[in-house]
Amino acid sequence: MTGSAGVRSERTIVLALGSNLGDRLANLQRGITELCGAGLRCTAVSAVFETAPVGGPDQDDYLNAVLLASSALPGREILSRCQQAEAALHRVRTVRWGPRTLDADIIACGTEVSTDPLLTLPHPRAHERAFVLAPWLDVAPDAVLPGYGSVASLLAAVPDRDGVRRLSQSAGCLSLPAEAAKEADSTCR
Ligand code: ADP
Ligand code: MG
Repeated sequence: MTGSAGVRSERTIVLALGSNLGDRLANLQRGITELCGAGLRCTAVSAVFETAPVGGPDQDDYLNAVLLASSALPGREILSRCQQAEAALHRVRTVRWGPRTLDADIIACGTEVSTDPLLTLPHPRAHERAFVLAPWLDVAPDAVLPGYGSVASLLAAVPDRDGVRRLSQSAGCLSLPAEAAKEADSTCR
């Protein structure tokens, strides 16, 4: 939202991360490092969820997580940041919804609504994707998907929710860059 002085105020940014190629957990952690900073203040990251692929060709299971941030950057700049993070992980686009080292999608930018195909807000498939809703609920139990309702009620209604499994902390977790800098060991919740 832009105020009367033309100054955009901070809003909550919800990013969904996924990886199913190579060292999936390391890819997600590297993605967080690439995304956070320079106007995108990362505030929390969910537990890691292992999920069966939805759509696309036959491929390995994904690890998914949701990253929360606070930012006044325009959505298009955040999308560029996501694409830079994917490029840093050497993501190659061959088939649609094919395997990838990193997928970084914007789920919501505050309450902004956009039908622009280059940046649709909220993300047009978030409401039906358990691999987005489950980690989002994990990190923000009261979250609401603008225009759709509470994340908890959406998750309860999606058919693929049984294809999503929360990893135990010992199996893997992610940390924000600031947390990682404070402790050599990652700071799982
Ligand atoms: P997907 O994430 O659906 O598997 P891609 O990552 O290849 O597919 O994204 C395809 C295109 O979707 C991108 O080029 C981007 O411009 C567009 N897009 C539209 N809305 C969003 C959004 N909310 N988040 C990320 N990409 C989006
Ligand atoms: Mg994407």
